[in-house]
Amino acid sequence: MRVAKLYGAKDIRIETMDAPPAPQAGEVLLNIGTVGLCGSDLHMYETGRTGYTDSVEPFVLGHEFMGVVTAVGEGALDGNHKPITIGQRMAVDPCVPCWRCEQCEHGHPNLCPNHSFYGLFPDHGALREQMIVEARNCFPMPDELSDETGPLLETLGIAIHAIDFSKIKIASSVAVIGAGPVGLLITKLASMMGVSKLFTFDKLTWRVDKAHEWGATHALNVNDCDPVEAVMEATNGRGVDVAIEAAFADHTVQQAAEMLRYGGRLVLVGIPPDDQLNLKHSVARRKGLTIIVSRRMKHTYPRAIELATSGKINLEELVSHKYDISKTAEAYARNFDYDKGIHKLILTVGR
Ligand SMILES: [Zn+2]
Ligand SMILES: [Zn+2]
Repeated sequence: MRVAKLYGAKDIRIETMDAPPAPQAGEVLLNIGTVGLCGSDLHMYETGRTGYTDSVEPFVLGHEFMGVVTAVGEGALDGNHKPITIGQRMAVDPCVPCWRCEQCEHGHPNLCPNHSFYGLFPDHGALREQMIVEARNCFPMPDELSDETGPLLETLGIAIHAIDFSKIKIASSVAVIGAGPVGLLITKLASMMGVSKLFTFDKLTWRVDKAHEWGATHALNVNDCDPVEAVMEATNGRGVDVAIEAAFADHTVQQAAEMLRYGGRLVLVGIPPDDQLNLKHSVARRKGLTIIVSRRMKHTYPRAIELATSGKINLEELVSHKYDISKTAEAYARNFDYDKGIHKLILTVGR
């Protein structure tokens, strides 16, 4: 079967590898349909580093994906604890918790210290034709959803989890920093929750336009304004109730803190490339901010699927580019340059 492997910085090659064996108990075999390309993938692509260590072998990227079930292991139940049939299309949560530790027992599988993760070293990802996954990580996709939207259910799950932390109330004011797919989905969810003023900031014009389309009352380009000043001016110096940081830049956490009201809530979703959280202590202290770091997601796939299937969120609108797996290197290079108009780039593998 075909597979796309990362050999080092900006070096992706298509190869063939052996097909996986039959799935064991609790597992399913998937024919991979589509794989999304994420900011964290681009970071690994840039550095050649996969996860916390330099990978010691060529590595298969891809953690946002869907596939079709071709074989079912003994006793395999899906993420809703329902039996699985061959031919079902599954969206897959890439995070595999142990289900047996303190965090898992307390209902925080997203914080499981023993978890593994498809597409993060040493667990190979989905940029290959076939793959064995845990059945419990699979969530059936209704017919209404196209293959291309499958990977975006992961992104929507991340956004839902962040929104859950935000405790947004009706008519509250919200700022979202960063309008990549996660920031845009957070914007959309916040607008659905009946917020009053909704600020979304980005430096790329097509993302700002999409944020406006998806309900931001103040969709602003950071190249044209000072985000903190813009919020303070529009809120008569009060600041917003909730600020959600969904960018990758180091100064954006500080900006988010400065645009919050006294007693406001800061939710951190973005992952800074230099692994540093830059926040002036006095700003957070004087305002008595509540700061929450959102880590992955919980059992959010069912809600993500519900929102997408009902048409409340049209994930198709974020699918801006499609490439065949044979063009993976080209796709990464294009996304890395943040070519005009890119929201989510989807790689099609097969079925
Ligand atoms: Zn991702
Ligand atoms: Zn655990």
